[in-house]
Amino acid sequence: QDPLDVERIREDFPILEREVADGRQLVYLDNAGTSQTPEPVVDAIADYYRRYNANVHRGIHELSQEASVAYEDAHDRVAEFVGADGREEMVFTKNTTEAENLVAFAWGLNELGPGDEVVLTQMEHHASLVTWQQVAKKTGAEVKYIPVTDDGYLDMDAAEEMITDDTEMVNAVHVSNTLGTVNPVSELADIAHDHDSLFFVDGAQSVPTRPVDVKEIDADFLAFSGHKMLGPTGIGCLYGKRHLLEEMEPYLYGGMMIKKVTFEESTWNDLPWKFEAGTPVIEQGVALAEAVDYLDDIGMENVQAHEEAITEYAYDRLTEYDDVDIYGPPGDDRGAVVAFNVDGVHAHDLSSILNDHGVAIRAGDHCTQPLHDVLGVPASARASFYLYNTREEVDALVEAVDAARDIFN
Ligand code: PMP
Repeated sequence: QDPLDVERIREDFPILEREVADGRQLVYLDNAGTSQTPEPVVDAIADYYRRYNANVHRGIHELSQEASVAYEDAHDRVAEFVGADGREEMVFTKNTTEAENLVAFAWGLNELGPGDEVVLTQMEHHASLVTWQQVAKKTGAEVKYIPVTDDGYLDMDAAEEMITDDTEMVNAVHVSNTLGTVNPVSELADIAHDHDSLFFVDGAQSVPTRPVDVKEIDADFLAFSGHKMLGPTGIGCLYGKRHLLEEMEPYLYGGMMIKKVTFEESTWNDLPWKFEAGTPVIEQGVALAEAVDYLDDIGMENVQAHEEAITEYAYDRLTEYDDVDIYGPPGDDRGAVVAFNVDGVHAHDLSSILNDHGVAIRAGDHCTQPLHDVLGVPASARASFYLYNTREEVDALVEAVDAARDIFN
C-alpha cells in the first residue's frame, strides 16, 4: 500500500503530462538534479508578481510591507520545517553551494590556520569538497576524507580515528547524491562535538526526501536547496545555530546587511539579514514556504516511505540484469538515488538513448569526481525519484535500458 496518493499528486504537476521525444510521455527521473514544481508553488510565484512585487525591508508603502512580511515569515516557515528556532537561524542563499561557501569563507577563513583540520567524506559533492579544499589552501589547514567502504558506507572506524582535537570542522553529506547512502549524521555529530569540532550537514538530498530535524541531529549548520524540494531555483538555505551565526563575520557586504554606516565604519544588521546582502530572493523565499507547506501537508514520513519503496523497486528491477553495476548500499537501505553503469555502454550514450524513449535521467560524475575515482569509473547514469514517480515509470526506465543494450550488443 503506497502511503501517497500518487495519481492525485501528479495532477498538481502538469509538466509530467508533457510529451517529449516525438510524442512519448515524459518519464522524469532526474529529481536529485532538480524536482518539478507543483501548481500551488507556481501560483505563489505568480501571485507575488501579480499582487505584491516590491523590494523588502526598506519600504513603507503597502506593497513593500506585504512583501516584507511574506519574505520574513517564509524564513520562520522554512526554519520550522527543519526544527530550527525561527528566522534568526535561517539564512536564504542562492543554493546549497552558496550556503557551503558562506560558512567556509565567513567562518573558515577567520577560524582556520596551520595545524587545523577539516574532515569531509569521500562522497562529498563538489559544493563542499571544492569549497573547503580552497579555504584550506588559503588558511594552511588540512582536509581529510573519511573513506567509503566497498559496499558504499562511510568507514566509521576510520572516522573515529580521523576526527581528533585538531579537527575544527566536520562536513558530511546526509544522503549521497551518487551512492544514495544515508550517512549516520547524529553519530558523526557526536564524534565531532566530543572533539570540540563543528558539524555541518549537506542536506541537499535529505531535506527534500525525509524528515530532517537539526536538533535531533545536533547539526551546527545545515545546507539545502529549494529547487530540489518542489521550490523554485535561485534559493538555498543555511541553517546555523544562532550563537555561531552571531559570532560569524558577514560573507557578502552591501545594502540590507548593515545597521549603521559611516565613511569609516559599518555595523551589521540582526540575524539573518546580516548574511543577506542586497535585494534578496523574495519571490523564491515566498514560493519555498509554499513548497514546504505542500510537503508538510503530505507528511515527510509518507514522502520518505514512498521514496524508499520506489527506490527499492528500481534497484531490484535493475539488478535482474548481470551487466548492470549499481553503486552504493543495497536497495532497501538507501535514499532515492540509483547510480549505475551497463557493461559496454557509456553513461552518456545510455542517457541519450533513454532520452529518445522519453526517460530523463542524469549522466556524468554528478559533481562527485573524486568519488567516481574511488569507484573506478569516469561517469555513471543516475535515476532519482520523488513523490510523484510511479512503478510504471521505473518499468519504462528498465525497458529503455533494454533497448540501449540491444543497440550496443
Ligand atoms: N550537495 C548535494 C548532495 C547535492 O546533491 C547538490 C546538488 N546536486 C548540491 C550539494 C549542490 O546543490 P546546488 O547546485 O543547488 O547548489
